[in-house]
Amino acid sequence: MSSDYVHLHNHSTFSILDGLADVHAYVRRAKALGQGAMALTDHGVLCGLPSFYNACRREEIEPVLGCEMYFVPDSSIRLTKTKENEFEKFHVGILAIGEAGYQVLSQLSTESFKRHYFKPLVDRELLESLGDDARHLVVFSGCAASVLSRAVMSGDREKVREEMYWWKETFPNFYIELMHHDTDFDYELNTKLIALAKKYRIPWVVTNDPHYVMAEDECYHDTLLAIQTASDIDDPNRFRFDGTGYHLKSYAEMRKAFKKYGTEVWMRGAQTSVEIAKMCKTRIPAWEVRTWQLPKFPDVEDAFAELKRLAAIGLKERQLHRNLEYLERTKHELKVIKRVGIADFLLITRDSIEWAKQQGIPVGPGRGSVCGTLVGYLIGIHKIDPIRYNLRFERFLNPERPRMPDIDTDFGKIRRSELFTYVSDKYGEDNVVHVAAYGQMKLKSAFQSLAKAHGIDYPTRIRISKQMEGGSEDNEILPPEITEKYPDMVDYMLRLHGVKKSVSAHPAGVIIAEPSLNIKQLVPEMYIPSTKRWVGQYELEAIEHMGLMKQDFLGLRTLDTIDECVKLIERRTGERIDPDSWVPDEEEGDDEVYKMLAEGKCSGVFQMEGDTNERGCREVEPTCFEDVVNITSLYRTGPILAGFPKAFIKNRQIGKKRIRYLHESLRPILEPTWGVILYQEQVMDIGQHLAGFTMSQVDDIKEAIKHKNAKLMASLKKGLIEGCVRKGFTQENAELLWKQIEGYQLYSYNRSHAVAYTFLTYQTARLKKLYPLEFFTALLRTVDSKDRRPKYLKDVVDAGYKVFPPCINRSDVLAGPDPSGEGIRFGLSDCLRVGPKMGDRLLEGRPEGGYKSLEEVVAAARNKGAIDALTAAGAFECFGVSCDKEQQETLLGWPFYDPMVKWRKKYRGEVFLPDDHGGECVIVGEIMKMDKGKTKNNKPYMTWKIRWSPAHTYDIRLWAETERLWKLKKGSVVMVSGEWEVRWHNLSIGNPRQVRVLKRVE
Ligand SMILES: [Zn+2]
Ligand SMILES: [Zn+2]
Repeated sequence: MSSDYVHLHNHSTFSILDGLADVHAYVRRAKALGQGAMALTDHGVLCGLPSFYNACRREEIEPVLGCEMYFVPDSSIRLTKTKENEFEKFHVGILAIGEAGYQVLSQLSTESFKRHYFKPLVDRELLESLGDDARHLVVFSGCAASVLSRAVMSGDREKVREEMYWWKETFPNFYIELMHHDTDFDYELNTKLIALAKKYRIPWVVTNDPHYVMAEDECYHDTLLAIQTASDIDDPNRFRFDGTGYHLKSYAEMRKAFKKYGTEVWMRGAQTSVEIAKMCKTRIPAWEVRTWQLPKFPDVEDAFAELKRLAAIGLKERQLHRNLEYLERTKHELKVIKRVGIADFLLITRDSIEWAKQQGIPVGPGRGSVCGTLVGYLIGIHKIDPIRYNLRFERFLNPERPRMPDIDTDFGKIRRSELFTYVSDKYGEDNVVHVAAYGQMKLKSAFQSLAKAHGIDYPTRIRISKQMEGGSEDNEILPPEITEKYPDMVDYMLRLHGVKKSVSAHPAGVIIAEPSLNIKQLVPEMYIPSTKRWVGQYELEAIEHMGLMKQDFLGLRTLDTIDECVKLIERRTGERIDPDSWVPDEEEGDDEVYKMLAEGKCSGVFQMEGDTNERGCREVEPTCFEDVVNITSLYRTGPILAGFPKAFIKNRQIGKKRIRYLHESLRPILEPTWGVILYQEQVMDIGQHLAGFTMSQVDDIKEAIKHKNAKLMASLKKGLIEGCVRKGFTQENAELLWKQIEGYQLYSYNRSHAVAYTFLTYQTARLKKLYPLEFFTALLRTVDSKDRRPKYLKDVVDAGYKVFPPCINRSDVLAGPDPSGEGIRFGLSDCLRVGPKMGDRLLEGRPEGGYKSLEEVVAAARNKGAIDALTAAGAFECFGVSCDKEQQETLLGWPFYDPMVKWRKKYRGEVFLPDDHGGECVIVGEIMKMDKGKTKNNKPYMTWKIRWSPAHTYDIRLWAETERLWKLKKGSVVMVSGEWEVRWHNLSIGNPRQVRVLKRVE
């Protein structure tokens, strides 16, 4: 009978790059095999346990919670080692008996990470310290890599005796573990272990160590191992599993594997597995409750009363306390908040935000559905007035179907981490846990890894993976080149897709729990060496399932830029402006701001940088805030492919009154977006106001769209069409509307988020228009990417300002507005090899009237490298020490003397620069660099690097047919035309007529 055996040693995909099995697939298989229980024992971590537990409970299988830990007799020896392989780590299987056992296991797991050395370790001292608690655990002697198996195979009898006594002594529930994968080694080891078990009167248990679900998954698993060890699939020496059959075997398969040991070995080993499973029976109440386990906000007695008080103050402060619409909505929202019981949640969120503001940490305007709540606005959780911008409360919290709200808040990236320290201090370190995040194998990364393992060369790999990018992350494409040339690989790619491949800290999530929950016992922690951080081992989904409260502190660089800009303006004018108080469309000069966007001058403007959105701005020509909100939602890959922008622009040209709707009742809902269904909120409105849906059904619409759940969407079809017909639609038009919604839902955007983020677009655009020097300086100081710098500097020049090299007496440490007001001057530490520290030192040592001589600077710097770099960059030209222009350019990434200026003026109209999509182009440029080379087939060529502007350089490849042009020297200016090759990032020239020489240097 199948229920007479239980698998107690199993690895899932949480045994990273080692296990292939998905926990749900495991449990379903065990169920299909008629097995009544199953364990999960991943390598070194408990990460998969909550989802495993829930899957088991759903399938009515008894979950056994465990872990295959790494054991070293004395972990302190790691302190004297420098390489992973300098000491041997053993495997040991541990299972939890009941909830108490889980708590011991959980603590043990956290402890093992305190002894982390390439792997989390447990040692004798730690295990002995368990004392009486050891009775809550079941311990297996382990696989071939266990300390006992190694001793047994070494033939050292004394060592074997010692080990046996120690494990038996330490763990009352100790078992000899037998696994057989059809190798002679297994046979020898098991025979010895059985003799030992009999001699010491220790029961044995039979396991199989599965790493994948079905027997036929073996090849995929083997490939995963090749990826893990980064080796060639065909490498005969690469790491592979010994023997075969590492899948979830049936009773009959297991019995067959152990046939050669005789019936007794199998029968007793199988029976023990069933007994252990019974003994381990575990229920974790905290994982089962469906209610929320929200912490209390500690500073007040009655959280709801406090919330009400703060909302009233908020109304008054904003002069809204006599406005009926606002009063009504506040009342309604408060009622729902009270019923659902999230007053503490909101106060805790508000508290962190208020604290950040007091500390001068920039806080964003809000993001996502939270901007739909007026109460949130009134108490300062976000800065968007939901009534003014027509945002729905129900998207945040639906009274008929409350879900735990998700409140994400942006903070300046530079100081964001202080928030984590703050909540940890405020709510107690024991009650705060970070969330883990697991990286999954995407199709592209599966291909990359497979192609590497298959020995496909680098350029081919890159070329093909480029073709796989479908615009967005979850929209990958399988290019025909793969399906045609490497059909075998496709199957593997699909199988490896979704397998866990890395673990890290969730970038923003942190759990705050009620002290009585003992969260640290509920959620074991792990140490992530790459980021030196402690995080809970469970991922977001599992945490949310437990009803725990999460706070998301996200980092947004733009907030730092705005903050820096405001400070710079204050420094110059003595006046502190507050961009958060700006009301779009009502501020002076807003027309100019929108005009700047309409001209596509978007560099540095939040969300609008990049070809697509710049194009959007030029096409839509925004004249008000709402237009900009719409651009951010219109110009995304999906809507563009679906033709939204075209319809939008067309309707905008014919005018609101002449837009035709399927039924007049659609007009109020769709008019703001020129007849296009652009936002999820609009689909919700259609459901509520046209089809007469209940709030639960409206919530279904939201969920269907949010999770792209086509099935849930389809279930709403009948109700929606019937409702619309009742409203006066013809049957035909109602069905047509349904078709549109069904098609649109894929692309519709969350309006709350669009409005909030567009507020940042507006702020940055206005700062750029009104305070260009400070704005660009702030950008240069806060944007980390060095390759955007030339582009920003170019914009400074295009705006009519100058860019100055660093000057020892005029520069700051960082780039900043020049005292003359004529432009931006490089900072001292913008120079390669001159760090911020050196910059500080030079500034501190600078006398009142400036340095008088180079000698003085040398004395202050005491560093030759820095002096050389500053000399080359031109920082000492004020002493008459001239610099090497070419070196200066390299050092600063920016040419001060640009010979292309006059050519740009002359040829602007004829030039057609290539973009990301390739196609015909005409480029004028100065030859900066030339390299000769040969292809694999010995075809000679020459590559020119030519420059049109500081931000635009292009590679031109010339073939033998153009040899007479190869004589041209650096500094020549040429005009070239042809087809831009996106794939190679160059222009290939085989015909001399494609090149016109405008200035000849030979
Ligand atoms: Zn093992
Ligand atoms: Zn194992």
